[in-house]
Amino acid sequence: MNNLMNMSLENLENYFISIGEKKFKAIQIFEWLYIHKEKNIDNFSNIKKELREKLKKDFNLDFIKIKKKEEDELVKKYLFELKDNNYVEAVLMNHDYGLSVCVSSQVGCNMGCKFCESGRLKKVRNLETYEMVQEIILIEEDIKEKINSVVVMGIGEPFDNYDNVINFIKMINHNKGLSIGARHITISTCGLVPKIEEFSNLPLQVNLALSLHAPTDEIRNRIMPINKVYNISQVINAINNYISKTNRRVTIEYVMLNMVNDSKECAIKLASLLKGMNVYVNLIPYNETNNIDFKKSDKINEFKNILLSKGINATVRKEFGSNISAACGQLRSKEV
Ligand code: SF4
Repeated sequence: MNNLMNMSLENLENYFISIGEKKFKAIQIFEWLYIHKEKNIDNFSNIKKELREKLKKDFNLDFIKIKKKEEDELVKKYLFELKDNNYVEAVLMNHDYGLSVCVSSQVGCNMGCKFCESGRLKKVRNLETYEMVQEIILIEEDIKEKINSVVVMGIGEPFDNYDNVINFIKMINHNKGLSIGARHITISTCGLVPKIEEFSNLPLQVNLALSLHAPTDEIRNRIMPINKVYNISQVINAINNYISKTNRRVTIEYVMLNMVNDSKECAIKLASLLKGMNVYVNLIPYNETNNIDFKKSDKINEFKNILLSKGINATVRKEFGSNISAACGQLRSKEV
């Protein structure tokens, strides 16, 4: 049975029309779910009893559960247990500009990036829309505050679960949904070119981030197997098309790995690859895990300064939560 929180407003309207009801009922349901955060269909008091019974026959309103939480002053990490006893994680970060949540989009991931803890577990399944929406609802409930921004950058490759992720984005952005501004939502991809192209045709104002992590195919092939399917020039071409269609600036994510992608030459090559593009580079300090192949780079500032001197916007991501297993996938690995 479908979860009620998988239904976009449009799908709910069509459902009510199909059962001979007025489509404005869809808005009432959205208000119960996302404004009043009501978890029991029986309590939808402005919906008549027969219709509530019909809804209960056609949909469930099951919730995922918070299984575990780790926290320090700046970050809270949540481990969620899904209905089928799988686990995913989300991280709440307290930025200067507000509260931000990084959500997971799949159980496991098939992209196999070598430096990534989440990618050690192959994809088990895609998350459904309701599971991603509930990651946010349960965190808001836990902290009793509203989330200001969302990044889809946790476990999984969002564009490998494209339809559910886009449905999720529309629902959290809707003013009768969770009302999170499109400009405060970011999807991060490792570079699935056909999906970047599809995404550039969507009339959504959400942000796109590309996990590039290397300036040459030689290095990227070693750390990101997806590069053997879509190489750097194909990905950069797709990003250029996206920028020219949407006029939006793209974030280039670059995790700084000691002796892998952090040399002066890498910075110079990266600057020349990105020259003239409407992008900014987010340099990410690597969270060391029990993966002995990678170490944190100590050349981040030097690398950033080379990019800046070549006219490329670059910042260093604030480090969050390495004390509390906050590197993507670590809490889940411990549990499993
Ligand atoms: S970095 Fe992202 S895309 Fe790569 S394996 Fe990890 S979760 Fe998957």
